[in-house]
Amino acid sequence: MAEKVCPLAKKCGGCDYQGISYEEQLKKKENSVRKLMKEFGEIRPIIGADDPYHYRNKVHAVFSRKRNGEIVSGIYQEGTHKVVPVDACQIENEKADEIIVSVRKLLKSFKIKVYDEDTGYGLLRHVLVRTGYMTGQIMVVLVVSSPIFPSKNNFVKALRAHHPEISTVVLNVNDRKTSMVLGPRNITLYGKGYIEDRLCGCMFRISPTSFYQINPVQTEKLYKTAMMLARLNKRNVVVDAYCGIGTIGMVAAKTVKEVIGVELNAEAVRDAQSNARRNNMKNIRFVQGDAGVFLEGMADREEAVDVVFMDPPRSGSSPEFLKSLLVIRPKKIVYISCEPETQARDLKTLKKDYKVEAIQPVDMFPFTEKCETVVLLTRKE
Ligand code: SAH
Repeated sequence: MAEKVCPLAKKCGGCDYQGISYEEQLKKKENSVRKLMKEFGEIRPIIGADDPYHYRNKVHAVFSRKRNGEIVSGIYQEGTHKVVPVDACQIENEKADEIIVSVRKLLKSFKIKVYDEDTGYGLLRHVLVRTGYMTGQIMVVLVVSSPIFPSKNNFVKALRAHHPEISTVVLNVNDRKTSMVLGPRNITLYGKGYIEDRLCGCMFRISPTSFYQINPVQTEKLYKTAMMLARLNKRNVVVDAYCGIGTIGMVAAKTVKEVIGVELNAEAVRDAQSNARRNNMKNIRFVQGDAGVFLEGMADREEAVDVVFMDPPRSGSSPEFLKSLLVIRPKKIVYISCEPETQARDLKTLKKDYKVEAIQPVDMFPFTEKCETVVLLTRKE
């Protein structure tokens, strides 16, 4: 069946697979994983989404001004800093899109200027909306160039009058000339400063800069696949490397002896620790730091680990991490990746001592060519 084609597809460039049926998209992804990984073993049939639309729980809009002074919000055209106006998107959460339009409409009456990247003049740079799929909670992050936001309380009031469903509003100060969306400082204007979502039976707190998977329905399938492959038991000591807010580790903690999570982002680690308390999990702890350095330490101390879950960013894992993994020699490694190319690179290092038992692609990002994969490796005896 042909899918509806987005009128902005050409200009925006965010979706690689516009106009291609969903079945065909899945085939393409499976084939691209096969091309990259066939040397390691069979590729399992890809796990697709029941509904490929509006899955993105996190929506980001950049704000800009046209020559005639009209304010626009949308996304950067691929490879440029030109803003393509977007009011609605096939893959984004619809409520989040509506909120961004409301923010834009309010700017004029509050005389809030949008930031100009060239001159550095103006206040509002981006708006980020994060939504809890199961809880319905909504966080609006106003990314500004300076912490002084005129009539901020009235602005929040006006925004909430249109959208009473907003649970928290945060001012994020980004005063640097950078392409990073969020700056280091958050000021809560309304609510708790974070949202919560329920995943695989656990509640998770998510702060503005913490990583959280953007497709919650597929994330449950991804984590369940990872757990099924790992076949954990009550005697296992488990490491959750690149753990974010602790999601994978917390799901694993229910069936194992002990979990240690490691994560670089301090805000995410605070979320993870709070999440462990919240879900009453006593057999999990989190360490803030580089996963490679942490694993090197474990290898030096000759600590025993049974299973390592690793879920690095797109750049893949580091040589130190992989080297230490080969010293620690866990029985199983479950490698989750959003970039099969770097994963294939890392598998080449690991295959010296490990056997690739399963390669499972999961579609987390319909309409884009991106693909998630879970790979199970077992130690060669
Ligand atoms: N497993 C989590 C997060 C995966 S995203 C989940 O499923 O939600 C990758 C995470 O790795 C991010 O939270 C990022 O902050 C973290 N990260 C990036 N580089 C890192 C490093 N060198 N050491 C530890 N964590 C890192």
